[in-house]
Amino acid sequence: MKTRESKVIFQTYKRYPIEVSHAKGCRIFDINGNSYLDMLGGIAVNALGHGHPAIIAAAKDQIDKYMHISNYFYQAPQVELAEKIVEMSCFDRIFFSNSGTEAMEGAIKLVRKWGKQNGKSTLVAFSGGFHGRTYGALSIMDKPAYKEDMGPFLDDTLVIPHNDVKTLEATINEKTAAVFLEFVQGEGGLSVPSNAFVSKIKELKEKYGFLLVADEIQAGIGRTGKLFGFEHFDIEPDLATMAKGIGGGLPLGGIAAKEFLAGIWNKGQHGTTYGGNAVACATGLAVLKELENGVMDHVQKVGNFLEKKLLNIRDKYKDKVTEVRGIGLMRGLALNFDAALLVEKLVQKRVVANAASGTVLRLVPPLIISYEEITHFIEVLDNALNEM
Ligand code: PLP
Repeated sequence: MKTRESKVIFQTYKRYPIEVSHAKGCRIFDINGNSYLDMLGGIAVNALGHGHPAIIAAAKDQIDKYMHISNYFYQAPQVELAEKIVEMSCFDRIFFSNSGTEAMEGAIKLVRKWGKQNGKSTLVAFSGGFHGRTYGALSIMDKPAYKEDMGPFLDDTLVIPHNDVKTLEATINEKTAAVFLEFVQGEGGLSVPSNAFVSKIKELKEKYGFLLVADEIQAGIGRTGKLFGFEHFDIEPDLATMAKGIGGGLPLGGIAAKEFLAGIWNKGQHGTTYGGNAVACATGLAVLKELENGVMDHVQKVGNFLEKKLLNIRDKYKDKVTEVRGIGLMRGLALNFDAALLVEKLVQKRVVANAASGTVLRLVPPLIISYEEITHFIEVLDNALNEM
């Protein structure tokens, strides 16, 4: 498969040496019958793990009715999912897209239009942030590897140091249209903004009146033990972008916004053919119902358990592990060496995880992971670090 793949597919992905046969719960099975513990969750996508009966039932039920019908029609799965998000959050209006980066593009367009009406235009984001691979999203990111030789990018964007209160204060002014923040940075190495940083954003928002956009594409949909990551902080964004977990494994993204932004777009000014696909919305609703029905409480408990175990690992391997980061089941183990080496070792030991920002081991397992599975992971991690 590796050879065939290398002949016909653009070589943009670094892949595990695993050819997947099937997956169930928190386990991935290869074609040779090996089973791997999934600490990656499809990169924070498979909130309910693989093959969850509620997801499968919702998908089958909707497929029997219709799969795609276009956004010219009223579709119950879209409305029901939007109603559920509104019920569970501080937001009032939803726009559905297919992916995270499209949600970001929509949010950037919305913010720019709102800015035009309010005499503001600058977009401010933070170093290490990851918002997607399209031009708008890349324009508010600073990592050269994602952008090199592909400019020009959007004008009037600034990426300033993360968690730096002084630079934030010196940058924001009446021209700032929006600030984009991940409340737990995914690709950026699982960094969490300090309370001082978030309260400075809040203070400046009150002073200058910009929009705050929470990129909840990775941290949202129960991953931190709350629906959105920002709920761990004393702040309410005007907009949140989401994707990954919301589709339960099918491609779905979205923008959630406060009511005062509801009228910003005229009919036809923003749209998508597939966005809000009926099957993806049906599985999304199944995800949210499960989250409400105990999965988010479970994330808080097992998230704390995982954190405690990781802190023990840090104490045991002080020469290799520098820090435990993140919230809930979005955790990072900061290392003082290339995390790809540890990832490789873990895969040899039948555990799948990945590296973020070079030296951080990223752990974003399915939200239904059990205490036993976490204990097994920690044993494997302990062995792996011991051998390194
Ligand atoms: N924003 C964040 C925080 C992400 O983690 C990602 C993807 O990893 C994106 C945006 C882009 O989402 P997608 O890959 O669905 O376009």
